[in-house]
Amino acid sequence: MEFTRGGRYDCDYLIVGAGTAGISFLDALLTYDKACTCVVLDGNSFPGGHWNHAYDFVKLHTPSHYYGVTSEPMGKTEKKDWNLFVPYPSNEDRSSKFEILAYMQKIADKWIQTGRVKFVMKSSYDFSSGKVTSFIDGSQSAIRAKKVVNATYYEESVPSRATPSFQISPDANHVPINDLVNLAGSYKKFVVIGAGKTGVDAVTYLMQFVRDPSCITWVVSQDYWYVLRETIGSGELLEGIVSMLKILPSGISADDLFLGAEKQGLVVRLDPSILPTKFKCGVLSIEEVKLVQQVNVVRQGRVTQVTKTEISFVKGPSMTIDDQTLVVNAAALGNMPRTPKPIFDGNNITIQPIIFCNPALSAACCAFVEATYDSDDKKNAANVIVPHVLTPQQFPYTLYLTAKSLTTMEKNSNLLNFVTFNRTNWFFHMPLLKKLQILPAFLGESANLVKYWETSGRGQN
Ligand SMILES: Cc1cc2nc3c(=O)[nH]c(=O)nc-3n(C[C@H](O)[C@H](O)[C@H](O)COP(=O)(O)OP(=O)(O)OC[C@H]3O[C@@H](n4cnc5c(N)ncnc54)[C@H](O)[C@@H]3O)c2cc1C
Repeated sequence: MEFTRGGRYDCDYLIVGAGTAGISFLDALLTYDKACTCVVLDGNSFPGGHWNHAYDFVKLHTPSHYYGVTSEPMGKTEKKDWNLFVPYPSNEDRSSKFEILAYMQKIADKWIQTGRVKFVMKSSYDFSSGKVTSFIDGSQSAIRAKKVVNATYYEESVPSRATPSFQISPDANHVPINDLVNLAGSYKKFVVIGAGKTGVDAVTYLMQFVRDPSCITWVVSQDYWYVLRETIGSGELLEGIVSMLKILPSGISADDLFLGAEKQGLVVRLDPSILPTKFKCGVLSIEEVKLVQQVNVVRQGRVTQVTKTEISFVKGPSMTIDDQTLVVNAAALGNMPRTPKPIFDGNNITIQPIIFCNPALSAACCAFVEATYDSDDKKNAANVIVPHVLTPQQFPYTLYLTAKSLTTMEKNSNLLNFVTFNRTNWFFHMPLLKKLQILPAFLGESANLVKYWETSGRGQN
């Protein structure tokens, strides 16, 4: 892969951020606008965004078929898996960090070879001054672009790049999750800090090596609802979402909505006696749930301090630890809440989520709209921003926005087609008969929900 040295460049689009958002946008833009030129700029050495800094054993939590760019399949598709002209996904075909990074480089190479795009890496962009500065020698580049695309608005905060939210004394036996693969000590016990999906990954990684699950303690400051992976490929999850759209006008509470989905086997919590306060679209398999349910769990709120001999919490007594206990920091903020703003605003484009829990498809849609609509008003009117959901209480509003997004797209048949037949859409990979049942039901229930929501004066929750 050939990157371009900083310097003076003219282009149509400067895309800042070479993560999934930036690369998916680039791919769809170059596909649908056959003439434009781009420069992609990023602070990392390679495309792939947060995956460059992830722990080595991380994998996608959704199947690979729904991730990556529109033009190139991701993951393994065997011929026998083909189901009525579309690749039928295996739920457990989930690309690893290294496979994702190799895929992103392949996409970058493919577009570099057309001569229409340059990648300027190890450089930072200052959105207020427009200055481009090299992280290597501090030199400045001048990149003149007709439009600047901000593909950093939903940048991920990952543990290896974030300052821990608790004090760690210098002599503590403590490692960030990224260091687990290089472990050379012989610890007898492990304490994992981090309640979300990264915490689950740390626990399941250790379970491969530690024979006695009681040697692992997991600090869970907040409980999460997770989507069950087994329900994605079959279409069960989409059917469940259609049922939720249908039931929302009855005034059902967010908690009851999740409890109902749990009964249907769509979502899962790690302890059935605790009502979760978090939902971030994390995905787990039944097997992963069974594995993490075997370890000890401590629920005393957030950790405040880790020393060589104890761990202190916001509430409750400190936990005493010995020399042979390793504390693993798997706490990550992930996606932070962002205030929605117009995606298309004169010379600036800010990529934001417009498809529920699908950052890759959202970014590709933004590019498709940019390439095929002719005014900012029309472009903004074609999209409804669906901010990332963080709590169960936000979920009814997210469902309403999803319904509004779909009914808005229905008025723009080109955009609806782009989304419906996009390889990164769950819907695209579903069996044909299921598709024929679900699409009209999804559109119909979406229209009903939007009407109910907007006439009943419901707010954001
Ligand atoms: C562990 C993990 C697993 C995930 N699994 C899945 C999954 O299975 N399926 C799924 O759909 N989603 C998944 N996600 C979420 C998904 O990967 C992210 O939402 C998505 O990749 C966000 O991409 P992004 O490009 O917006 O951000 P990032 O990947 O964070 O990329 C932003 C980029 O912008 C660059 N940048 C920022 N500011 C500047 C600047 N001023 N100048 C230059 N460069 C700058 C950064 O260097 C970075 O490379 C996962 C996330 C995590 C953390």
